[in-house]
Amino acid sequence: MRYFIRTIMLVIITAISFLPPCAGAEFLRQNLRVGFDDTAGNFWQGSRLLYHGAAYELTEYMGTYMNVRFSYTRGSLNDNLLRLHSGSLDFVYLPENGQPTFPSKGPTDLPAHTIFIPLGQGFGWLLADEYRTDLKERAQQAMQEIKDINPLFPSSLLEKYHVKGHALNLTPEEKAYLAAHPVIRTMVSPRQPPYTYFQDGEAQGVIADISKRLENDLGIKLEIIPEETQHTMMQHLTDGDIDVVLDFYTDHNWAKAHNAILTFPYLTLNYVSVMRKDATLPEVPTVACARPHFYTHDFIERIFPPEQLRYYADVADCMAAVNRGEADMTFVKSITAQSDIYRGSYYNLYTNGNVVFSHKVSMAISENADPMLLKILNKEVAHIDPQDITSIVNSQVYSVQANDTLKSFIYRNPFMSLCLLGGVLMLIIIGLLYCMQLRRSYTAELWHQANVVAGVGLYNLQWFTRELPNAIAYYQEARKNGELFVLVISAQRMAFLKEFYGPRLFADSIKLSLSEVTQKLPWILRYGLSAEITHVYMLCRKPPGLTLRQAAEQVEKAARIIPINGVPTSFTYHIGLCPVPRQEDTDASLLMDNAMMARNEIIGKNQTIGIFNSVMHDELMKHQQMELYMEKALAAGEFLIHLQAKYDLNTREICGAEALVRWQSPELGFLGPNHFIGLFERNGFALKLDYYVLEQVCQLLTERLKQKLPVVPISVNQTGMHISERGYLANMQAIAERYKLPRKLVELELTETAFIDFATKTENENALQITRRLKSMGFALSMDDFCTGYSSIAMLRNLPMDIMKIDRSMLISAEQSERSLTILKQVIKLGQSLNMRVLVEGIETEAQERLLQAAGCHIGQGFLFAHPVPVEQFFAKLDQTVKP
Ligand code: C2E
Ligand code: MG
Ligand code: MG
Repeated sequence: MRYFIRTIMLVIITAISFLPPCAGAEFLRQNLRVGFDDTAGNFWQGSRLLYHGAAYELTEYMGTYMNVRFSYTRGSLNDNLLRLHSGSLDFVYLPENGQPTFPSKGPTDLPAHTIFIPLGQGFGWLLADEYRTDLKERAQQAMQEIKDINPLFPSSLLEKYHVKGHALNLTPEEKAYLAAHPVIRTMVSPRQPPYTYFQDGEAQGVIADISKRLENDLGIKLEIIPEETQHTMMQHLTDGDIDVVLDFYTDHNWAKAHNAILTFPYLTLNYVSVMRKDATLPEVPTVACARPHFYTHDFIERIFPPEQLRYYADVADCMAAVNRGEADMTFVKSITAQSDIYRGSYYNLYTNGNVVFSHKVSMAISENADPMLLKILNKEVAHIDPQDITSIVNSQVYSVQANDTLKSFIYRNPFMSLCLLGGVLMLIIIGLLYCMQLRRSYTAELWHQANVVAGVGLYNLQWFTRELPNAIAYYQEARKNGELFVLVISAQRMAFLKEFYGPRLFADSIKLSLSEVTQKLPWILRYGLSAEITHVYMLCRKPPGLTLRQAAEQVEKAARIIPINGVPTSFTYHIGLCPVPRQEDTDASLLMDNAMMARNEIIGKNQTIGIFNSVMHDELMKHQQMELYMEKALAAGEFLIHLQAKYDLNTREICGAEALVRWQSPELGFLGPNHFIGLFERNGFALKLDYYVLEQVCQLLTERLKQKLPVVPISVNQTGMHISERGYLANMQAIAERYKLPRKLVELELTETAFIDFATKTENENALQITRRLKSMGFALSMDDFCTGYSSIAMLRNLPMDIMKIDRSMLISAEQSERSLTILKQVIKLGQSLNMRVLVEGIETEAQERLLQAAGCHIGQGFLFAHPVPVEQFFAKLDQTVKP
């Protein structure tokens, strides 16, 4: 349909063209008709019915200068010639048909009755009817005009339509040369990806690909020798070390300067400007240029004045300079621009793509090389279709990928990066919050463990000790008025009740009762419970009108009956009080110690309430002094052994002795054990002291045995702490082995406290084991202070004791009551029936002696017979009494 309309239009236009020109239509040009046969490259009609070709374009320009308009008719040459002669065509196009030289006299087989108008070599001719010489003249004149204006114009048309690469016609000499030189030594520029660069020592990029094409076409190897810099490559060319540089700027002067000659150019390089995205280009920009590059001298220095130039070692440095803002722009090859931006991660740089200047690239052949090589390479350059070069360039340029560093990723994906960063930050924050929460709950758990009595849920003494100073500071008014006091209350039989009711029930009852007491007595300001639930410390504010003692009595009264498991259970207490001094610098833990000291004072005195006073304070000071000096005293031998004789009541002879320690202190004076043993048992020093006493006794006995002097068994006191002491048995074994005394010459006096765990009121599990081992070492075991504790009789059941040492208190009560006397007698009997030696200590009167003898006890110790005396004194007496 379109074709039909077009044909109609052509007919109308042709008709109009034959009309005589009329006024107002001076510019309406005459229409001339041209017939053509489709000829690739020169004249053909494409699929969209448009015309193409070098001859077609030239014809159109001729039309301009002939002042005519051309219309075209496609048909075979013969049909067109018929139309020409019939007058329906003015010209027929005749192609050159690949003749080696253009026949200037016209085509060899010029059709009959035609004249020819030559369009030029490579184009062909236009034929006209032999009578149309006017047309030939006009056409030739137009051709001449075009050539006068632009002689190169026809060539540019040929280049546009015809450069397809020429056949590679090598002469026999050239083929022989290639056969004789199968390897040609070449170099290429380094460091310009994707144009030309090295990777793992292999040349890569556009030039390397072109060199492969050369190798294929010529059947030789182009060995590309790797080189680090452009400069050194040029040096090798100049020195004739290599045959060819494959990429050389097409400039003959530059080639001569390096002793080289050039092939035809095979590639055009375009240069584009590179600028910063974040800054507009100033009117007078500073330009970064690479010093060793030829285009710097050939182009940049020609365009920009020297004051605008900054020189750098290579292109990469130029790019970095622009990126840093040192220069405003630089120029790079269009094919390397993208790669340079990506590789350096210069995402702030860009190119507008506008080609600023161009140059050609040739191969440079060393003047030392055979000129034959140049001719061969020129033929090869002419042979390669420029389209092939374009494909090579394209495939390299398209393969440029961004260097995927984190920085580049962020730059290219700012939104996604922001989201990711936000996500990561969110995760970190959530993680931190979670950790903080864990830590908080862990800290709370730790705090709970450290400050609350397990199983009861009340604050412990550690908390109370810490809280006490704060609370005293908080109630400073009351403190100034002398109303504050610290109270410690401990119940008797606690361990028994705990065991009886079970720890949980017992703890619940104590907790309930404590909360009731503190509710009832709101002047109890703070309180803390001991871990064993045996005593409670309180900070109290003395209620108006009551004395301290009365206030303490109220506490005692409120707690006297505690229902446990619904059973009202009555408790008896020991209460210690210590007033908080009015002055500010109060040591809180000292107040607690003082209250405890006041409580300890009344134990065994049948009292309930003890109030701290200055005597106790002096005692405390003395204790502190003792602790200060005790180690020194032991080393200086200030602890002395006194021996108190034990007597056979039947014979009135010394049958043994007890070693009792004294402290002859230069600072504190002469002290009996009652002054310091309690303290040393609390601070652990008693352990050391016992070993000392034992060793002294062993030495004395060894010495006397050595001198063959009389000896009697000597007992030494052992604090209860030894039972739980680590290494006790090993130490005792070492002492036993060191002295090797006769068996049972040394007795160990143990009290019930050693074997009973007072928290549970049960026997220490390993007590039996320990006593057996001590006996096997040769020690005799004596049960000291028998009948003063809770479990004396029960202990006899299990422990292999040798001696029963009945306490003085039994003797005194036996004197006072018939029942006690009966008990004493039975105890003595019990001991004897268990094969134990039974001894009563503390005999002061002859009446007591008689009583004991009547009760069946035959060994006694007491002031009636002898006081504890220094060792020498004791042995002097022993030596006198023992019959030789
Ligand atoms: P204990 O083992 O029961 O020693 C007997 C205490 O009764 C001695 O007091 C002794 O002097 C005293 N005594 C002796 N006969 C009579 C008497 O007829 N009437 C009275 N009222 N008292 C008499 P001492 O020497 O003051 O020792 C007191 C306690 O100190 C000892 O009691 C013992 O438990 C402890 N002790 C003494 N020396 C040591 C020792 O080296 N190590 C350990 N761990 N404790 C020791
Ligand atoms: Mg004793
Ligand atoms: Mg005793």
